[in-house]
Amino acid sequence: MNDSEIFILGAKGQLGTALLQRYPGSKNADIGELDITDQKSVEAFDWSSVKVILNAAAYTNVDGAESSEGRRTAWLVNAVSPGYLQQVAVKNDITLVHISTDYVFDGVKNPHSEYEAFSPLSVYGSSKAAGDIVVGLAPKHYILRTSWVIGEGKNFVRTMLELAQNGVNPSVVNDQVGRLTFTSTLVDAIHHLLSSKSQYGTYNVSNDGEPMSWSEIAREVFKYAQLSNTVSEVTTEQYYAGKTGIAARPLQSSLDLAKIKATGFTPRNWQEDLATYVKKELA
Ligand code: NDP
Repeated sequence: MNDSEIFILGAKGQLGTALLQRYPGSKNADIGELDITDQKSVEAFDWSSVKVILNAAAYTNVDGAESSEGRRTAWLVNAVSPGYLQQVAVKNDITLVHISTDYVFDGVKNPHSEYEAFSPLSVYGSSKAAGDIVVGLAPKHYILRTSWVIGEGKNFVRTMLELAQNGVNPSVVNDQVGRLTFTSTLVDAIHHLLSSKSQYGTYNVSNDGEPMSWSEIAREVFKYAQLSNTVSEVTTEQYYAGKTGIAARPLQSSLDLAKIKATGFTPRNWQEDLATYVKKELA
């Protein structure tokens, strides 16, 4: 597979940025160049030299999706538009790589396997689940279901570092448990599935290691950053008390990694990647 046969969508997002770094010779577009909700533009695009679509485009504002406007946009970007890509993929014999989320589940089972039935709690989760269903109709598809993505962009680790540097000792929720997924790991997994020609389908992909709560992860961030800030623990209910328009979140986000491991892929420990990430952020 040649870089020039790859088309990255949502190229300016956290994952899109990391994909572009891995495949510098690829075609790429973000919403300004190709808005995936614009069916006519998607269909009119010259797909003849594309063998792989890496769809990193998404509406990822989980709370924003709860508003009447956000609900419409979330469904359009996360559910309807992957349908346009699926049609293009089938018509042009393209492999479609798409990204799913632990938010398609209610967070009761632990860990979540690829075979668990959808049970989304939020508009965002519902729209992503619908996107998974439509992408699954393409014979050549990989859906990577991931959680708690950390890369170049606004994310939890950056927020914690920023708060700490401003002298804040944050209150962080202690009842949502999962593992971070660094975009480097996600990109490695995508590359592995494509280059090993693994069986098409859905694969859970996060970093490996011990699942922890957001408050425990915040402490890990401060530990690697050698900051003495403290973290107070609050429940999700306490954290959002009095706020409106907040999406319900799954409490258990850990993904079962057995299926991707069985293809020969070994996800790194999230603490190892966190240490590297924090070091780079502070450099
Ligand atoms: P980002 O929000 O960082 O990136 C998404 C990108 O898609 C942005 O550049 C965005 O542009 C672009 N985009 C939005 N609408 C359109 C459109 N209509 N046409 C083209 N591009 C568009 O997301 P991440 O990189 O963090 O997420 C990548 C994938 O991983 C998504 O599928 C997401 O659902 C999934 N995921 C993310 C998690 C996380 O913690 N972030 C957790 C689990 C799964 P703009 O910014 O201008 O809107």
